Amino acid sequence: MGCLFCDIIAGKRPSEAVYQDELAVAFEDIHPQAPTHVLVVPRKHITSLAEMTPEDEALVGHLHRVAKEIARERGIDARGYRTLFNTNRDAGQTVFHLHLHLLGGRGLGWPPG
Ligand code: AMP
Ligand code: ZN
Repeated sequence: MGCLFCDIIAGKRPSEAVYQDELAVAFEDIHPQAPTHVLVVPRKHITSLAEMTPEDEALVGHLHRVAKEIARERGIDARGYRTLFNTNRDAGQTVFHLHLHLLGGRGLGWPPG
């Protein structure tokens, strides 16, 4: 079965690119939930955090470092922002290729829905 984010990474589908390196890409979420809503995605296809293995530890750390650099570049780091993975049904995961949400630019409610 095809994977939407693998297709975006391969350039087979459009996206609004924010950042890319040899391990990860970042692009604008198509339905932004905040003034900043960027997805940081590993080039490696990992279905969800539940499928992460020990060999992915550095990669998952890298996604967070990319997110914090984007937050700094956008000037939202002092006020604050949220990074999160949705995992499987109860969290509302809809795209089954691991992606770190970076949300900021407004006050974010807690607890989330
Ligand atoms: P999740 O619910 O954590 O699986 O999040 C999937 C996210 O991907 C949602 O916030 C969607 O708005 C976003 N999304 C879906 N299709 C695209 C796309 N083609 N380009 C960018 N973001 C997308
Ligand atoms: Zn994929």
